[in-house]
Amino acid sequence: MKAMVLNEICDLKENRTPLQLTTLPNPIPKEKEILIKISACGVCHTELDEIEGRTPPSRFPMVLGHQVVGRVQEKGPHAGQYKTGDRVGIAWIYSACGHCDFCRQGEENLCEEFRATGRDANGGYAEYMTVPEDFAYEIPDVFSDSQAAPLLCAGAIGYRSLRLADIKDGQNLGLTGFGASAHLVLKMVNYQHSDVKVFVFARSEKERDFAKELDAVWAGKTEDKSPEKLDAIIDTTPAWKPVVEALNHLRPGGRLVINAIRKEDRDKDYLLKLNYHEHLWMEKEIKSVANVARKDVSEFIKLAAEIPIIPEFEEYPLESANEALLELKERKIRGAKVLKIA
Ligand SMILES: [Zn+2]
Ligand SMILES: [Zn+2]
Repeated sequence: MKAMVLNEICDLKENRTPLQLTTLPNPIPKEKEILIKISACGVCHTELDEIEGRTPPSRFPMVLGHQVVGRVQEKGPHAGQYKTGDRVGIAWIYSACGHCDFCRQGEENLCEEFRATGRDANGGYAEYMTVPEDFAYEIPDVFSDSQAAPLLCAGAIGYRSLRLADIKDGQNLGLTGFGASAHLVLKMVNYQHSDVKVFVFARSEKERDFAKELDAVWAGKTEDKSPEKLDAIIDTTPAWKPVVEALNHLRPGGRLVINAIRKEDRDKDYLLKLNYHEHLWMEKEIKSVANVARKDVSEFIKLAAEIPIIPEFEEYPLESANEALLELKERKIRGAKVLKIA
């Protein structure tokens, strides 16, 4: 099969083609696994973190990609949940141990043996992949393959962050950063909590305008003061300044939820501005979002079909994965990027 593989960690500023087009043997589904013929795979910011070594693959070469839509081509021994030809999606969570305390409570995102699609097992930048059948999801008919792909990561993790933010009717929610995940959170809030006011902090004017189009009550720059204090803020940026500024915007007892797999070090000095009295006192909380559990993916996909949330996307052939990644790095286009594979 054709695959775009990562052979080593590299700096995208020096290496504009981190992935190589290769031919790999078709994977064979093992016990309770299914073989998927991939039709679309979303391109995610986390792939940049993998390529640049902030969350490196556990082995090389690795096929990246964790927002995969395809059809069941073959079943391994004792796999019985899906029929050949069924359309399924695969998300960031590839597998977990299944028997630790976290797994038993449905918090398998925290399992010590958590494995990520496209980081610890080959993912979707290829024609085929295998996955344990318990970690595949049915895709509702309202979505085309390319529409469903970006929902599997940005949407599912946005859903989890919103759950962890624990926002109640009548409260104020802040979003700092307004990319793929945050704009889906805003759509979910509009649908589920119509009397929650959303305040958006974003660097670029385009993002602030987009937030207002989607009915945010206010949009300003990262360091601007919001007109009202906030009960919870979800941060989706790779930087530290928004963390410090967000803590300042919280009400007493407020919660900052950081939805970022890794933070970059560029502005780490900004943390020295952190002042206990202003930023943390009055029972303010900070919580990070780690990975996704299966219920985040399956519940979000159902909710997205009901609302409905239909993402805007741009398609690239598999061979142009490097170009899509660089455009994502340089924040070129609004909307998701999807590799159209079959
Ligand atoms: Zn992702
Ligand atoms: Zn476990």
